[in-house]
Amino acid sequence: MSTEIAADAPPPNPEIVPGMMRCAKCGFVLNRITLYVKTGTAGAGDNRTEPCPNGCGPLWPQTWRDQAHQLEDRLVQMYEELKRAHTMIAQLYRAGVLSSPHCCQALGMTRQEFLIMCDWRAPL
Ligand SMILES: [Zn+2]
Repeated sequence: MSTEIAADAPPPNPEIVPGMMRCAKCGFVLNRITLYVKTGTAGAGDNRTEPCPNGCGPLWPQTWRDQAHQLEDRLVQMYEELKRAHTMIAQLYRAGVLSSPHCCQALGMTRQEFLIMCDWRAPL
């Protein structure tokens, strides 16, 4: 990645994610990337404010702290979705709709791992 910085660019703020902008109203995220044609490399773009493309307000620079909290929220959401999917697959197995080879293949588990999972997932 290039470390080129335009001569008129303000000094980078260590609290801001380089090139990442977010709308406070709708959550739209813009990642700006600068392509350096001379060197064939790419780097983070700037953090200048611009209007949200959804028309609801300005895009603001994303802070690392806010980014970490949003990623944590997304991780928790994805984990809950995974647990629900595992529970549904286990229910289909117990109901005889799916066979253990199909379940194991879908989950990337051995039969032993799958049967252990079925025992500790939510009851039917
Ligand atoms: Zn917006």
